[in-house]
Amino acid sequence: MNKVRHVLGISGGKDSAALAIYMKDNYPHLDIEYYTSDTGKELDETYALINNLEVYLGKKILRLAAAENSPEVSFDHFLKMYGGYLPASNARWCTKKLKLDPFEKFVGDDPVVSYVGIRGDENREGYISKKTNIQSIFPFRRNIWSEDVTSKILSNTNIDTVVGLFNPVSINGKTELFGEVLKTPVTPFYNQLQKLNQLLDLNVKEFNRLMFSFIKTTNYPLSKEEVFPLLENDEVLIKDDIFKILETSGVGVPGYYKEIGFEVNGKKGAYARSRSGCFFCFYQQKIEWVWLYEQHQDLFMKAMEYEKDGYTWMQEESLADFIKPERILQVKEEYIKRSERKPKNQSPYLLDILSDEDDIGCASCFI
Ligand code: SF4
Repeated sequence: MNKVRHVLGISGGKDSAALAIYMKDNYPHLDIEYYTSDTGKELDETYALINNLEVYLGKKILRLAAAENSPEVSFDHFLKMYGGYLPASNARWCTKKLKLDPFEKFVGDDPVVSYVGIRGDENREGYISKKTNIQSIFPFRRNIWSEDVTSKILSNTNIDTVVGLFNPVSINGKTELFGEVLKTPVTPFYNQLQKLNQLLDLNVKEFNRLMFSFIKTTNYPLSKEEVFPLLENDEVLIKDDIFKILETSGVGVPGYYKEIGFEVNGKKGAYARSRSGCFFCFYQQKIEWVWLYEQHQDLFMKAMEYEKDGYTWMQEESLADFIKPERILQVKEEYIKRSERKPKNQSPYLLDILSDEDDIGCASCFI
């Protein structure tokens, strides 16, 4: 039987970088393999972050290249294969070809636990592999388990099994209640999420221990492990914690998050880039394209070169049209107005204005 492998993907974004640091600091005995899927089109700041991380981790971060034997970098290789058809949110061939396929090849058929940096203040699931040999774990969340396994333990058909596995040791006088909640079936008026939250409110560590016992009855990768140190983890990490981890470790916050001020008709604004990923990523907002044009003009010009045969990065607007001075001015003005409309004190982070993280689109690229 193959040994369980523990892997952690570094996207170049803040959350996966912080997770790597967190895992090294808190679980030094877990032999984690770090990897990054290099599209060949990341920002220099991303490559700098990966280099800094390697120093901190004292370990190589494996670069997975999607087109290993091609003379071209991965993105260009596949773009040619797709006849110059630029990826878009409704035709995201890049994520599959450049991120998911190389990852699945890297893990092969080995049982794998994959750590994902979705934070406790986010409401989304990460990439869940369809491959049954890959199990995702979310150490920053209160519920570290993925949705598929959570819904199994909470399903009515498994109540007897789960109640049988519950070892009623004392959990702060809440043992009986915990047992009662376990026995309660879900109904249209009491759904799985409510049941899950009740159990986690009562005792996160007890829920984790029970989950591990349950997993032992399945074929999930963790069923092959004798122990799993994260069962004792009941920490929840949110955005502030992520920035703190990056700063105090010395790894640093990726340079592209740094706000840069600008002025339009006497009004002040500030822009930055909100996410990692390819410099031409179609998920970026218009103000981020302006940032790219004004702060990395060489990359903007490269992005423009990709726009051929009617394919453009943005819907209904070419980059050549976008950089007309009046258009840039308009984008900046609209952005300032939008920033002013944001309720005060909602978030101190510019990246919250720039991005709607619940609609992040590409978990493999941006976490
Ligand atoms: S960063 Fe954007 S363009 Fe690059 S692979 Fe991810 S989704 Fe595609």
